[in-house]
Amino acid sequence: MMAGCTGSNGGDSDGEDDESESEGEESEGPEGVSEEEFEQGPVPDEYATAMSLGKEERDPEGLSPKTEVDFSEYEEAEENSAHQPGACCANCADYIPDKNGDKFGACAEVEGYVDGEDWCAIYEELPEPAVPEGMSEDELATAAVPDEYSTATSQAGEERDPDNLQSQESVGLTESADAIADGTAQPGQSCGNCADYIPDKNGDTWGACAAVEGYIAVEDWCSVWEPVSEDL
Ligand code: SF4
Ligand code: SF4
Repeated sequence: MMAGCTGSNGGDSDGEDDESESEGEESEGPEGVSEEEFEQGPVPDEYATAMSLGKEERDPEGLSPKTEVDFSEYEEAEENSAHQPGACCANCADYIPDKNGDKFGACAEVEGYVDGEDWCAIYEELPEPAVPEGMSEDELATAAVPDEYSTATSQAGEERDPDNLQSQESVGLTESADAIADGTAQPGQSCGNCADYIPDKNGDTWGACAAVEGYIAVEDWCSVWEPVSEDL
């Protein structure tokens, strides 16, 4: 819900609650980040040339301003005719999830701080990973993952225990955009910004999960989703 300022927190309201961040509850962005910085950057160093969920490298010199791409919070995006139900930054190929625990990420195409719940008009759907050679689509949900994922650590430091995983069926694994569109998930949730996600390690674009068995795609989601921000 922390969109870039066009939303209910009144980023455009020139300053009447500029200083409210000191009180904690109306704060638009991370502490110490001015509204201008929040909208236009620069973002913290760890995002400057980081890789997005769709493996696009961010180029700080080649970004669009939020104002040019209809950037908004999800709720507002729902009123935009270009918005597809369920689409949000958390399941966009250009999204760079939170890396420093402040709840905000960044974008490989757009300036400033970006929340998973936001959206903009240049949203790019993540491509569905191809079924690995020698496997069928039906096997993916229960297949043993390649060795490099078996006891790997998730992006928030959770170690995967292959003997202690839930089935994809029991946690309702589905695509994030579908889950958000039908109200099962909240806007801003995907495996890509989940504490348990283990990103692709072998270039096939599949990842794995420290809590759920089988092959997991970055744009998926399940009912035990946990925000990566809390464990960073
Ligand atoms: S929808 Fe995608 S391109 Fe637009 S701001 Fe969000 S992450 Fe960036
Ligand atoms: S949303 Fe579910 S399947 Fe995806 S990484 Fe998190 S716990 Fe694993």
